Amino acid sequence: MNRSATHSESGDRPIHLYGLRPDELRAWLEEKGEPGYRAAQLFDWMYKKRVTGVEAMTNLPKSLRALLRERTRLTTMEELTRQVSKKDGTTKFLFRLFDGSTVETVLMRHSYGNSVCVSTQVGCHMGCAFCASTLGGLVRNLTAGEMMEQVLACQRLLDAEGGRVSSVVLMGSGEPLENYEATVRFMDLVSAEEGLRIGQRHITVSTSGLVPAIRRLAKERRQITLAVSLHAPNDEVRGRLMPINRAYPIAKLLEACREYWEETGRRVTFEYALIGGVNDRLDQARELAGRLRGLPCHVNLIPVNYVPERRFERTPREQVQAFRKELERRGISCTVRREMGADIAAACGQLRAGHRMAEA
Ligand code: SF4
Repeated sequence: MNRSATHSESGDRPIHLYGLRPDELRAWLEEKGEPGYRAAQLFDWMYKKRVTGVEAMTNLPKSLRALLRERTRLTTMEELTRQVSKKDGTTKFLFRLFDGSTVETVLMRHSYGNSVCVSTQVGCHMGCAFCASTLGGLVRNLTAGEMMEQVLACQRLLDAEGGRVSSVVLMGSGEPLENYEATVRFMDLVSAEEGLRIGQRHITVSTSGLVPAIRRLAKERRQITLAVSLHAPNDEVRGRLMPINRAYPIAKLLEACREYWEETGRRVTFEYALIGGVNDRLDQARELAGRLRGLPCHVNLIPVNYVPERRFERTPREQVQAFRKELERRGISCTVRREMGADIAAACGQLRAGHRMAEA
């Protein structure tokens, strides 16, 4: 049994069932003298019927349910609060984890489907200047099972409406690629045939620019989307916004992105939070276009709201459009991200505007 599937490295802790791949669950059951087909039954209860306790698994023998109660955990998170946007139905959850830590998850409703923004760490230590998640530093990594539970909580909400989660973005609190093993395990779990079957093309992993991890992910040749938080056209500006730029400056980062494209055939998405007077001038748009020239990519422009403690100003709407046009004129594919859940401060996107829920 791979210990990373459990809550901790300690062998005494119960196994978190939502952290197990189908083959691992089968192996564990067989090790306990149960027939392998019980794994399929369990997965059906967990992912299709989406029950929250083993008591409900009525086609499993009582002895097996007792074993599961004793040695495993199904749900480990408790919903503390839920806020729903009156504007667009965006729903923000705050969950308490088994150790008392809390994380946020956001369900966004788009015209093309429902998307869940998943947190991958409690807190974060990357220190991005526009982000509230990093203010208290990193507390711990989340397990794959804890990431999965966030998605399932949203799916249970959608069940009542006959809806389904159609995509997952790993853009909540944390740097997913710093929690590499759990992130990759989660992607396998969420796309598993026996599970929620959210295809790799409907998964987006965001990174602040951890170059070695981008290279490692590229070698896996997954069909997921890689979203890189760029936020600046040069090292001077990016260095002020993102401390990681000191370790991995833009040239190195873009080299790794090119490698990602070459290995996977997937164009990289660059997140660019527009901050008034910092990175939103037209000459900066031209500089950005120059840097990205020839790299198959897409740029997401994200207008940042006023951030009081950082004195970040919002870029005026016309300036946002002018910046977009400047990029497009130079052949860069580009969109301006729609703000979700503005009334509950629950947007999502690796920027402080996306983590305002941490302060709510
Ligand atoms: S933007 Fe992302 S990587 Fe940067 S501090 Fe916030 S959570 Fe961490």
